[in-house]
Amino acid sequence: MITLLTASGTSKKAISKNFNYSVDRFADIEILRYHVPDFDNLCLKQKELIYYLNQAALEGRDILYDQNNKFNLCIRRTLEAIYVNYTDDRTSDNFKRMTKYLKRVWMGNGIHHHYSEDKFIPEFSEKFFREAVYNIDPSKLPLSNGQSVDELIALLEPIIFDPTIFPKRTNQAEGVDLIQTSANNYYDKSVTQEEVESFYVKMKKTADRTPISYGLNSKLVKENGKIVEKIYKIGGLYGPAISCIVGWLEKAEKVAENEKQKDVINTLINFYKTGNLRTYDDYSIKWVEDLDSNVDFINGFTETYADPLGMKGSWESIVNFKNKEATKRTEIISTNAQWFEDHSPVDTRFKKEKVKGVSAKVITVAMLGGDCYPATPIGINLPNSNWIRHEYGSKSVTIENITDAYDQASLGNGFNEEFMWCETERELAKKYGSLTNNLHTDLHECLGHGSGKLLQGVDSDALKAYGSTIEEARADLFGLYFMSDPKILELKLLPNAEAFKAEYYTFMMNGLMTQLTRIQPGKNIEEAHMRNRQLIASWVYEKGKSDQVVDMCKCDGKTFVVINNYSTLRSLFGQLLAEIQRIKSTGDVKAAQKLVETYGVKVNQSLHNEVLTRFHKLGLAPYKGFVNPVYSLVKNQKGEISNVTISYNEDYVDQNLRYSKEFSSLPIFN
Ligand code: ZN
Repeated sequence: MITLLTASGTSKKAISKNFNYSVDRFADIEILRYHVPDFDNLCLKQKELIYYLNQAALEGRDILYDQNNKFNLCIRRTLEAIYVNYTDDRTSDNFKRMTKYLKRVWMGNGIHHHYSEDKFIPEFSEKFFREAVYNIDPSKLPLSNGQSVDELIALLEPIIFDPTIFPKRTNQAEGVDLIQTSANNYYDKSVTQEEVESFYVKMKKTADRTPISYGLNSKLVKENGKIVEKIYKIGGLYGPAISCIVGWLEKAEKVAENEKQKDVINTLINFYKTGNLRTYDDYSIKWVEDLDSNVDFINGFTETYADPLGMKGSWESIVNFKNKEATKRTEIISTNAQWFEDHSPVDTRFKKEKVKGVSAKVITVAMLGGDCYPATPIGINLPNSNWIRHEYGSKSVTIENITDAYDQASLGNGFNEEFMWCETERELAKKYGSLTNNLHTDLHECLGHGSGKLLQGVDSDALKAYGSTIEEARADLFGLYFMSDPKILELKLLPNAEAFKAEYYTFMMNGLMTQLTRIQPGKNIEEAHMRNRQLIASWVYEKGKSDQVVDMCKCDGKTFVVINNYSTLRSLFGQLLAEIQRIKSTGDVKAAQKLVETYGVKVNQSLHNEVLTRFHKLGLAPYKGFVNPVYSLVKNQKGEISNVTISYNEDYVDQNLRYSKEFSSLPIFN
């Protein structure tokens, strides 16, 4: 599971000057650069390990494009060919618009918005597209199997320009076939949702206490009328890219920090070779138990948000190393995990008697790949398998150099001035915003997701399409509830009894109002984390209405969130946590549906318009993406590796073009 940033404009903290955080700006996106402090202080072997893992992280990029939509690679390669080879007027409006569209394709790893999942429509004309394709040498185009240029254009034009074709990457709307109406490529379009569900129900039939993550690493297709899984593995689907990943992992394994880590890497290699999900579980267990290594990584088919049925894993990678100073904070939290579990406001039946191995650390990211690039989470908690989490615990990370980059880029952008009620809230945000935001992420990741248990016999997928939202709400509420507990002061995680208010205020403002800056006018909320945040904020707002716990005040025609009673707000968070945990533990899908549909989905139109107008005036981008640093091997005269250097000079366009050139082992259609 992952945590995403709540809103732009959180807080301020002065770090590395002379570092250029902002790289590019287009559509609703700002591209940032992140700094990797302390990379130079690592030993040579660790740097070398990071280098190989980085390469492995980049090799999976095309897998994700193909998972997101089967035409993505063809479209990206066509547009890149135009961008690189176009000889006509490169300063024309149409060419500029095509460049903007290509930048959006890189940001979304395909033709859909990375966050709203809607297909974006180009601002250049079909006529220009045709002329541009004809303008360049056909040998530069991604033509497959004797396809002509005309055929390529005829194939791509409707997919790029017609808004009714593939309108939504992952469809979560009620009452339609979610497989048929989703544009992604986890299921063949000849397969219906009903067929998928019955296929996996049959597979899951046996009472298994340690079930594999069914369907995680495969595409479901119909062959000769029969439904089968095409497995992602060497020799299987995405084989060429997976071979390249494994090639780098084999080098990484040779410079592993210790035997345990070597074993982790080897088991992952084995999984990629066989596609066996039992091996994947072995790998997950070994990975979660490796707590000594300084360098760590995620590489594989991991999160299931992109599958409307929550089974298929999108490919992602993150390479990182421990931020030792900041990790002291999360170690305090994990050491006290049992205390938090015992004192949580949920029914005793749903609590873990013994919380196992909640390990948490703060990391410095060295490389983002696949579904973590260019948009990236700020926190991660893995593995996702419920029984492994129950028996072996989970590993939780907060990515501090990414949150730092967000904070730096939002310095003085006017966001808090526009949306916060008065100076008191702004002061709180300035003083404690960064600290409390990081603490909330830590509590969310290392305690929230790891807390509670399912009653015996309850299927972990029981909440179906509502599962992700409920799970995120549970983790957020756990963090919010304890944020203002005296225990936090006793553990010296916050400096005083006021600081938590910064997070409470920001959370409510974001959930009730400002996250709407990320939603197109007239649209509802789709994404699980956003649904969860609105669900929590509007539920506590409504339940506390008669006591005016939280107000929505108007001033000069502008709406503001005002919190009148922080301690009652806390007990409301506690009440909702108890209910959400009950829903999760008992698999009460009806209650989950009611809660999510009532509070998490629908948007107040007039408030939405107001927020968009105010936000628009600030000229800020609602979404951020990142470029990675560039790592280079330095060799001495004997040809031995003597150093690995890091540089921050590559811009967004150059980086993506280079990745497409160096890490593109898959065919156009898979
Ligand atoms: Zn989460």
